[in-house]
Amino acid sequence: TATATDRPFDAEVGRLLDLVVHSLYSEREIFLRELVANAADATDRRRFLALSDESLALPEGAAIRISIDKPARTITIADDGIGMTAEDLASHLGTIARSGTRAFTASLAEAKPEDRPNLIGQFGVGFYSAFMVADRVEVTSRRAGTDAAHKWSSEGTGGYRIEAATRETPGTDIVLHVKSDADEFLEPVRLETILRKWADHISVPVEIERDGKFQKANEGTALWRRRKADIAEKDYTDFYRHLGHMFDEPWATIHWSAEGTVEFSALLFIPGRSPFPVTEDDRESHVRLHVKRMFITDDAKLLPTWLRFVEGVVDTEDLPLNVSREMLQSTPVLARIRKALVNRVLGELKTRAKEAETYRGFIEQHGPMLKEGIYDDADHRNEIAALARFRSTHGEELTSLDDYVTRMQEGQKDIYYITGEDPARLAASPQIEGLRAKGYEVLLLSDQIDFFWPERLGTYEGHKLVHVGQARDMFDVAETPEPLKALIDALKSALGEQVGEVRASTRLTDSPAALAAGEAQPDLALQRLLRRAGR
Ligand code: ADP
Ligand code: MG
Repeated sequence: TATATDRPFDAEVGRLLDLVVHSLYSEREIFLRELVANAADATDRRRFLALSDESLALPEGAAIRISIDKPARTITIADDGIGMTAEDLASHLGTIARSGTRAFTASLAEAKPEDRPNLIGQFGVGFYSAFMVADRVEVTSRRAGTDAAHKWSSEGTGGYRIEAATRETPGTDIVLHVKSDADEFLEPVRLETILRKWADHISVPVEIERDGKFQKANEGTALWRRRKADIAEKDYTDFYRHLGHMFDEPWATIHWSAEGTVEFSALLFIPGRSPFPVTEDDRESHVRLHVKRMFITDDAKLLPTWLRFVEGVVDTEDLPLNVSREMLQSTPVLARIRKALVNRVLGELKTRAKEAETYRGFIEQHGPMLKEGIYDDADHRNEIAALARFRSTHGEELTSLDDYVTRMQEGQKDIYYITGEDPARLAASPQIEGLRAKGYEVLLLSDQIDFFWPERLGTYEGHKLVHVGQARDMFDVAETPEPLKALIDALKSALGEQVGEVRASTRLTDSPAALAAGEAQPDLALQRLLRRAGR
C-alpha cells in the first residue's frame, strides 16, 4: 500500500539475529519468556505513567493473553501495555539502541556455545528470540493516548515493513507464524509448561486460551514477599533466571525482610557467572525497586557500581506509589535501604569467604569487581580489601591480605606487590628477586584495575602497600663498588637519553640487569598499558 515503508535492519541487528537464531537453538522455548516479559514491562510502564496522567489508565481486567490458531499455525501474544508508535516500532524493533553492540557480537561469536545463552540473555535481545520459532513475525501496536495503530512485520532476514493498521484499544499484539520444525509450540499444554516456570513472578495476569476460554496461567505472587520456609530452591533459581535472563545457577541467594526505621523485603542474587560488560558507560546497578509490590524502576542505583553484578528486587512499603524521579534521588528511605543492602551483601561474602573452595568460584568470576570496590567505595574500602584474594609468590593458592600479614618475615613492615599483565611473567620478574631472596612474599597482580587500587588503599592493618619498584631503600648500595663503576659509565654513555639513570643495586640475585621505573614515574607495566590505550 501507499503508506507502507520497507526498511533494512541495522547491520548489527542482522548479525545479532543470525547469532540468536543459530546459537540458542536448544533454548528455543525462551522466546515465550522474552515476549511475555516485554508485554509485562509495557503494562508496568503504562500503569506507572497513568499515575501522573489518568487518561493512560489500564483498562479493567488488563492482562497478557496468549492464543494459538493451529490451522493458521500462529501464536498471538496480546497485551494492554503502553504500546508503540510507528517511530517506536522502527527504533525499538529495527535497531539496537545500546552502544557497545559491536564488541558484544564479536565476543558472542567467540564465546563457547554453552556460554552464549547467558550472554544473549544479559544483552536483552529478547524480542529477536521470536525468530527462533517463527519465520514471520507481525507486531500490531497502538500507543496509549493515541488513535493510530501500526503494523511492523518481518521475516527476520534483511529488513522489516511498517504500515498503517487498526487496533481497538491501546496495546500490542505479537503474531508468530510458527516454523515448520516448531510444531511443539502450537500446543497450549506446551506453552503452559514453559509459563509455569517463571510467569508467577509477573505481576500482570497471564492468560492462555484453551477450548475458546482464557485461563489464568500465573499466580502473580511476589516471590520476595513469601516466607523463606515456603520457597523451594528451584523457585529461587527460576526467578533468578527470569530476572537476569540467565540460564545458570545463582552463586548466592540472599533473601530477607527488614523491619525497623525502614521496612522492605529484598531478594538478591550473586550470579554464578560474571555479566558481560554490555557497555563501558553502563556501570550502574539494575536491582529493581518495587513499592507495595508494584514495579517502579530499575535505575534507582540501589547498590554501588562495584556491586552492579548483583541482581535482585527490593520492595518497600515506605514510599508512595507515585514516587517521583526527584524523590528517588533524595529520599532518606532509599539512602537507608542502600546502606542496608550493601552491608548485607558484604556480610554474605564474609560468611561465604570461609568456604575457600566455593569462594574461589566467586573470586574467579567477580574478583576484579571487588578491586573496583576497593578503589571506588571509600566507606567500605578496608572490608572489601579483606574479601579480595590474590595470587602471590607464596604458592598456587590465592591469598587474602590477612594471610599475607601472618606470613610476614621478622623485620618486614610492608606488603609488597608487583603489577603486570601475565601472572607467570610476574612471578619470574627480576624485579622481585631481591625480595624473594629475603623470604618476603610478593602479591602478583595482573588485572587492569590492579594498577590503581593499591595506592588508593594505601595501608592494610597498618602495613603499607608497596610496589616492588618503589622498594628501593633496602636494596640501594651506599657506594658503587669499584669494579662496577667503569661498566656503569659505559652503559650510561651507550644508552644516553634513553635512560634516566644507571645504578648498582642488590635487588637482583640471578639477573645481571633490570629496567626499572624512575622514582616519580608510574610503574613500567602501567606505562605500557597507558601507551597502548593511546595516552
Ligand atoms: P529489552 O526488553 O531488553 O529492552 P527487547 O528486544 O526485548 O529488549 O525489546 C526491545 C524494545 O521493544 C523494548 O525495550 C520495548 O521498548 C519494545 N517492546 C517490545 N515488546 C513490546 C511490547 N509488547 N509493548 C511495548 N513495547 C515493546
Ligand atoms: Mg525484553
